[in-house]
Amino acid sequence: MLEKALRRKLPSGCFQNVSRQRSENMRAIKGSLNTTTEQCLRLALVRAGLHGWKVRPRGLPGNPDFVFPERRVAIFADGCFWHGCPHCCHAPVRNNSAYWREKIKRNRARDQSNRRRLQTQGWRVLRIWEHELNRSPDKAIGRLQFFLTAKGRRNLGMRIRSVQSK
Ligand SMILES: [Zn+2]
Repeated sequence: MLEKALRRKLPSGCFQNVSRQRSENMRAIKGSLNTTTEQCLRLALVRAGLHGWKVRPRGLPGNPDFVFPERRVAIFADGCFWHGCPHCCHAPVRNNSAYWREKIKRNRARDQSNRRRLQTQGWRVLRIWEHELNRSPDKAIGRLQFFLTAKGRRNLGMRIRSVQSK
């Protein structure tokens, strides 16, 4: 029911690989909608026809944006700037750059601590970055779907843990 409501609510989204006509429509909508990374992922989930997810359940460390409760998977859709995405070169912030650096550093530390707390509660945690959703939402969804599978559980889960421990 939620997904149906979303389809009505978000006729278009934040994706770049759409037809020109479509992206012109999107630009018009974007101006008024202020599409966030979380909304982008939500729309991508709906489009991919994925089921069994919930939005921001209460009481979990770090308030994951989505969870797949049956699979014990928690998903964060994070903005590259605020969460210090390692893959993006961020434009330097002109004023108060030390302030922003410090703030982003704190955000990252908090993200990691929340990840650990979720993991100790038996959740597997996947972070989907803003740039992934902007550049290739299909790929981002593919990564998510892989993560949901048993294979993803072994491979990707391990890779993420090893990246994290660096
Ligand atoms: Zn990024």
